[in-house]
Amino acid sequence: MFDANFKACEEVIKMAAEARVGKSEWEVKVPEKPLKEKLYFENLKAKVIDTNLCSHCLTCACVCPVDGIIAVDGVDFPDYEDRCTDCGACVRVCPRFVYEPRSGLGSYIDFIAGRSKRFAGQDGAMVTELIVSAMEMGMIDRGLFVGRDEKWATEIFHVRDPEQLAISTLGGTKYTFATVLPELKKAVRFTKRGIGVIGTPCIVSGVRKLQQEFPIFREKVKLVVGLFCTENFHYDDISKFLQEKGVDFDKLIKTDITKGKFIATMSDGEKVKFKVKELEEILPSGCNVCTDFTAVESDASVGSVGSEKGFSTVAVREENAKKVIEYIKEKGYADFGEADTSQLDFLIGHKKKREENIKKD
Ligand SMILES: Cc1cc2nc3c(=O)[nH]c(=O)nc-3n(C[C@H](O)[C@H](O)[C@H](O)COP(=O)(O)OP(=O)(O)OC[C@H]3O[C@@H](n4cnc5c(N)ncnc54)[C@H](O)[C@@H]3O)c2cc1C
Repeated sequence: MFDANFKACEEVIKMAAEARVGKSEWEVKVPEKPLKEKLYFENLKAKVIDTNLCSHCLTCACVCPVDGIIAVDGVDFPDYEDRCTDCGACVRVCPRFVYEPRSGLGSYIDFIAGRSKRFAGQDGAMVTELIVSAMEMGMIDRGLFVGRDEKWATEIFHVRDPEQLAISTLGGTKYTFATVLPELKKAVRFTKRGIGVIGTPCIVSGVRKLQQEFPIFREKVKLVVGLFCTENFHYDDISKFLQEKGVDFDKLIKTDITKGKFIATMSDGEKVKFKVKELEEILPSGCNVCTDFTAVESDASVGSVGSEKGFSTVAVREENAKKVIEYIKEKGYADFGEADTSQLDFLIGHKKKREENIKKD
């Protein structure tokens, strides 16, 4: 593991150095430093972290060659004065350093409803089905899944064999930030065929920035499955909130947001429900300024809204995802139906309005 991390760091340092002396084969533009005398990380901190723009996607942590950037309450590089090499990689990949908010349904080839016949998931388990099918097709040899521990803290699993999905906590939605992108740094070193990444819209934007800036991610990330997303939460905030609502984490088996309600389901069938509006008090500032509900930059986006209960809504955006859907159809691995895009309008509009209100304040 150390060796793999070391090699990944070496690669980022080499690319940063080549960029500085103009030797690289691809065009590298390091954004201007607004604070000219300061390190790049200090610029990232001043422009994104301290201004509450940070989405917690951790793309910066994925490329930091000295592994100095970490996820704590927010995102930080505690000893940057001593360790930051000022390579500029963090500002090059941060989707919010030069922020171009995205919105709407995005472009797509097909918008469908699907329900896997092989897997159980949050809705129709189409996320799991897409990744496993891509693995069976040989498009990828691993998928990065967001699992959880018994207290619902997120953990990343490198799934290389569908049998690993016997761990039932790998499917389903965790309303907590996850360290998908720092794990991607490890995955690119080990993969032979390619990697499937699953993530919220901010993670998807991070992957695209990585692919734009570092060829290794273009080469190795072969499928990006985005999740529809209204908001996500810091682990400490949401777990404290849920405990105060009477949620017993030892019994909690599912969390869901549907029709304006947060629903926590326990193993004995008990449900704790409350209006999702109540979560506004712990809404992270980076989610407040996000307008991308459907993960428009993904290869395929999957969500709950837009199809009937038990199905996932799938926006098939790129040819690679289309091929996986064709494979699933050919094998008869899922039931398909129609999705209703108009059902997404409210949440797309809600995110736009929320961001406009923040700008006004
Ligand atoms: C924070 C969050 C907010 C969401 N908000 C909405 C919404 O407002 N409206 C809507 O229609 N859909 C929303 N979704 C998507 C929805 O909850 C389902 O994930 C989606 O419908 C896919 O269901 P599935 O059964 O196909 O997925 P499954 O086959 O169950 O797979 C889901 C996969 O999502 C990944 N995942 C789980 N939690 C996280 C996380 N925190 N970060 C990154 N990846 C994760 C896991 O790898 C898991 O394997 C949200 C998802 C998340 C994570």
